[in-house]
Amino acid sequence: MTATPLGHVWLVGAGPGDPGLITVAGLAALRRAEVVVYDRLAAPALLDEAPADAERIDAGKRVGDHTMIQDEINALLVTHGLAGKRVVRLKGGDPFVFGRGGEEAIALADAGIPCVVIPGVTSAIGGLARGGIPVTHRAVATSFAVITGHEDPSKPEAGVHWDRLATSVDTLVVLMGVGNIDGIAAALIAGGRDAATPAALVQQASTPAQRVLTSTLGEIAAAARDAKIEAPALFVVGDVAGLQPLLDPAHLAPLAGKRVLVTRTRAQASTLADTLRAEGAWPVLLPALEIEERIDGDAFREVARNLMLGRYRWTVFTSPNAVDAFLDALWETGGDARLLRGNLICAIGPGTARALAARHIHADLIPTEAIGEGVVAALAARQGEEAIAGARILLPRAEGARDVLPDGLRAAGAEVEEMTLYLAAPPAAAPPEALAAVRAGKIDIATFTSSSTVRNLATLLGGDLSPLRSATIVCIGPIVAEAAREHGLEPHVVAEEHTIEGMVAALRAYVHSHSGRG
Ligand code: SAH
Repeated sequence: MTATPLGHVWLVGAGPGDPGLITVAGLAALRRAEVVVYDRLAAPALLDEAPADAERIDAGKRVGDHTMIQDEINALLVTHGLAGKRVVRLKGGDPFVFGRGGEEAIALADAGIPCVVIPGVTSAIGGLARGGIPVTHRAVATSFAVITGHEDPSKPEAGVHWDRLATSVDTLVVLMGVGNIDGIAAALIAGGRDAATPAALVQQASTPAQRVLTSTLGEIAAAARDAKIEAPALFVVGDVAGLQPLLDPAHLAPLAGKRVLVTRTRAQASTLADTLRAEGAWPVLLPALEIEERIDGDAFREVARNLMLGRYRWTVFTSPNAVDAFLDALWETGGDARLLRGNLICAIGPGTARALAARHIHADLIPTEAIGEGVVAALAARQGEEAIAGARILLPRAEGARDVLPDGLRAAGAEVEEMTLYLAAPPAAAPPEALAAVRAGKIDIATFTSSSTVRNLATLLGGDLSPLRSATIVCIGPIVAEAAREHGLEPHVVAEEHTIEGMVAALRAYVHSHSGRG
């Protein structure tokens, strides 16, 4: 009998809440995990990074009549380690800052199981920073202490010496202190700290639900009660808390902390979502359309034959989806991009041109205005070999697309052959959390990149878009803006350049000019 090879445990700090704040090493370990044992404070989105078949164990959940005690967690890690598994123990913040990571590492060492500690961004520093409070600041604070507020300071056996900490450290960061905030504030004042010292609370730091409350040491406990501040929260005392208004994330970057609705398809959402995240915003992904293929096989084979015979002068692509659907279909029938060599290619705008470029196809024409009218004008202006009068034009596109383009081209004397590729349909199921956020009016900014996203979102919401009335409405172009108006939403931002980059640039300019500093 061969012995089971030993497993390995990584004690990983998940960061203070924002899933983007895990370390590169922590993410790498997570992506290779076979078992993930996680805490309540670790960002739920991080669990999606583990392989789909990894076992996920909630160490904060109730077992029988109690939540798992530390000995049980240690035993769980040891058991999986002995079973030869790659185990990630994912903990909020840093594993060694009030995370009992030390105890787990010692238990593993005692059992002879290899363990690697991957530090994390502790909420005591990083969470506070996202709340707009620096733990140190030149000439304001030259020292800080991180203290547990778990013990009731009025108990004689309490281990924290609030009286000594009160005046010996500039910045006091108290974790787990919301429940005892009255006693802690009183103990610090009794210890000699001025009641007028700035103080603050940061609840659910570095998450979309973050709340910051600023006050003074003397008044913060009452203010916390009025504002209904709840755990998890950071309690900070010191002059650095007075800098909060200057360093509030929204003051530093206009999109920071804003919830932005992204309605594109899942496959297309990532560029927009990444750009928004990089600016400090929270993208809320609610794909409002799914691409349903609607290609008629016989019709498509006829088109492929005509292409081969060089019967079209132009092929016009009106969306990246059309490019992909068309070339995928060509590929499936045994053909490829060479079939397009006999005709000129028009892309409605830069986004579509980029989709063609990704397939190594140059667009011969990209009209300056990326809407149907722009395409008609640009094509009608071509001369000689490229003229459209009397020429055959292939127009592969979505079911139910506007008639402006084919009508305009026909009016200019072209013979237009339309070909249905796909239907931009509402998704069968939308992510419930995103839908709930929209319904609850929690969206600050809603983005729309096609008319179908507007229509389909209305369908998903049971016919009306009124939960978005107080949001900033952003449209990629005038046609989408029109669709928004038809659904009762007045667009605040309509991009001049009809691309994702153009839309984000227009949004940034708008938000900046409305943040009082533009
Ligand atoms: N190891 C963690 C701390 C665990 S103790 C770390 O390094 O951050 C749990 C306490 O941390 C909570 O009671 C709260 O005071 C604080 N905390 C953790 N995450 C937080 C967050 N996102 N916002 C505010 N406080 C947080």
